[in-house]
Amino acid sequence: MNTTLIIGAGGVGRVVAHKCALNADVFGNIVLASRTISKCDEISSELPHANIKTASVDADSVSELVDLINKYNADIVINVALPYQDLTIMDACIATSTPYLDTANYEHPDVAKFEYKLQWARDEKFKNSEIMGLLGSGFDPGVTNVFCAYAQKHYFDTIETIDILDCNDGDHGYPFATNFNPEINLREVSAKGRYWQDGKWIETEPMEIKMVWDYPEVGEKDSYLLYHEEMESLVKHIKGLKRIRFFMTFGKSYLTHMKCLENIGMLGIKEVEHKGQKIVPMEFLKTLLPDPASLGKRTKGKTNIGIVAAGYKDGVKKKIYIYQVSDHEKCFAEVNSQAVSYTTGVPAMIGAKLMLQKKWSGKGVFNMEEFDPDVFMDELNKQGLPWKVKELEV
Ligand code: NDP
Repeated sequence: MNTTLIIGAGGVGRVVAHKCALNADVFGNIVLASRTISKCDEISSELPHANIKTASVDADSVSELVDLINKYNADIVINVALPYQDLTIMDACIATSTPYLDTANYEHPDVAKFEYKLQWARDEKFKNSEIMGLLGSGFDPGVTNVFCAYAQKHYFDTIETIDILDCNDGDHGYPFATNFNPEINLREVSAKGRYWQDGKWIETEPMEIKMVWDYPEVGEKDSYLLYHEEMESLVKHIKGLKRIRFFMTFGKSYLTHMKCLENIGMLGIKEVEHKGQKIVPMEFLKTLLPDPASLGKRTKGKTNIGIVAAGYKDGVKKKIYIYQVSDHEKCFAEVNSQAVSYTTGVPAMIGAKLMLQKKWSGKGVFNMEEFDPDVFMDELNKQGLPWKVKELEV
């Protein structure tokens, strides 16, 4: 029987634990480990029949991780802690020859920049340890990469442009809160925008490019161009691509709050001195903001995340839209988490399931679009994230 080690007991970790427990025939024994063991115990108490073991670990320490993996003889590690821990967890997996999966690419705590470079650089070591590492198995990155691979496989000879469209129309009733880890979220949306066109990256000011998109089951929303990590791997793997962009919806109130926080220095990630103590403004802000895990029961509305791909099939120009709509309240009713955690945790579970079943296999470090999308797309339909395809006018 397999043993599955989940690291990180936040909003996403909760969903992964629930969904792995529902697929116990594949995941076998589940161990949930995080910095704060009480958070693991709380999740485990929601799943009494799953008999989940819990543990405390500092995932910044490779040696603690190695001991934990060895203690339970894990068959896979699902990393849903924070992007800061990606490299230490990958190194512990290399040291113990244990397959690895995550949902977000590595970030250094002191530099608001995310890229695959350091994770891709571990490819050789993963090969030498004869293990697979699956990077970015959340929704975006994750499902959006799989949507692109699916479009490529079934709808196009050549894809020329891709727009990734991420809409969260959830309302939690607070004046300001973030739907996942505030630090990671605010670092992402306050950074400069970037998109890829004709072989090079073009940088924009934060929120400089806006368009209005009509999201099925949600309606028209202001959508802003951001840099997002899946573009880095998609430009490598989707051949013939001429342009890729990423858009996310933000309401006016969210943007006004964020601008104000930025203007007064609350989004800073460098230490400042306060009454003789060193504090990082962004970390302090995180302490003040509602815990994303607590938003679940308050959030109403839907998410709609998808891709629009345009290109050629048999010499004919075409454009398709693949998207997935989730309802915050339905997600909460099922797993005690809102849709942002749900839409991340379910694909993490699916990626791990396909790895354990060897339906997705390999040695080295991989991105989602490198595998056959069909099995993943089937699982999305079965595991609570049904998707749709629409032909759009060119
Ligand atoms: P949370 O902040 O809710 O949870 C993170 C968890 O990781 C917490 O339980 C925290 O423990 C634990 N953790 C943090 N540092 C350590 C450490 N050093 N050692 C052990 N445990 C640690 O985040 P989310 O659940 O919202 O997000 C989880 C991951 O999912 C993040 O990497 C995020 O970027 C990613 N994500 C990906 C998305 C996608 O679509 N691809 C979308 C949304 C999120 P404690 O509480 O004790 O500090």
